[in-house]
Amino acid sequence: MRNIKLIPNLPFQVPEIEDVTDRLPKKSEWESIRRKWVVKGVWDGKTYLVGFRTQDQIDTIIVHHSGSPEGTLASHANYHASRWGTKIAYHVCIDKGRIYQTNDLLSMTYHAGNNNTYTVGIEFNRDLTKADLTDEERQLLYAAILSVKSAIPTIKYILGHNEVCATQCPATSMKRIREDIAELELHIAEHQTYTESIPANMVEAFAVGKRTEALWANYNTEKWKPAAEAKFMMLAEVTGCDTVKAIYERIMDLYKKAQAGQWQGEAIRKLLLISAVMKERGIL
Ligand SMILES: [Zn+2]
Repeated sequence: MRNIKLIPNLPFQVPEIEDVTDRLPKKSEWESIRRKWVVKGVWDGKTYLVGFRTQDQIDTIIVHHSGSPEGTLASHANYHASRWGTKIAYHVCIDKGRIYQTNDLLSMTYHAGNNNTYTVGIEFNRDLTKADLTDEERQLLYAAILSVKSAIPTIKYILGHNEVCATQCPATSMKRIREDIAELELHIAEHQTYTESIPANMVEAFAVGKRTEALWANYNTEKWKPAAEAKFMMLAEVTGCDTVKAIYERIMDLYKKAQAGQWQGEAIRKLLLISAVMKERGIL
């Protein structure tokens, strides 16, 4: 699971996620270790095995910070490779205003003691004991967490490294992170519902405009004039107009406003009311 995408509909701007997995240093034995293909396993303190999990084995994100010393992602990769036999331990890192994917999300890496089989590690590459996250840094971290959750929908938990191991990492409030993420998920869900409902409402509103144009054309023929007039007058109450011409012009005005501009939303809402009456009277 490489090249994950930034989750859409965030209420703030952050740059796209860049996958640098192949650009970071790794230990030469990586390939031979990888051939062991261990899907489930734990670090026993002596052996270091890597492999790929299936998506449904992963249900937790673990948040880390770099701690001290602060270094580049490459320096962390070198350090981890020297100690844990593979390469950088985290799956996603936030470094200097950017979000980087640093491992396949399904690969098992060694970032959280005995909790590596079911977790994805996200690292904030700064020592957070020196100063807590700024608002801009939180946006990057939250975008990373939500994008990983979106890529792996089986993820249910967001924990700090210190909630599964005896460590100070990530030296920031996980309670606040979880609360902020819950709020953002609500925002994203609401935004999705809103954008999904707009096109359907517009189609229905425009149908009123088109049907009214056709009725007006009928009204201007000798043969269909009485039938069209009767239908128009059924819309007198909902449009607040009392002549065929006034009703027609009122609906055409709404139809025009419903296409674009500051009155669009209001015009669509009014056309939907007219649509309901048209359907009830068998006009639409
Ligand atoms: Zn950690």
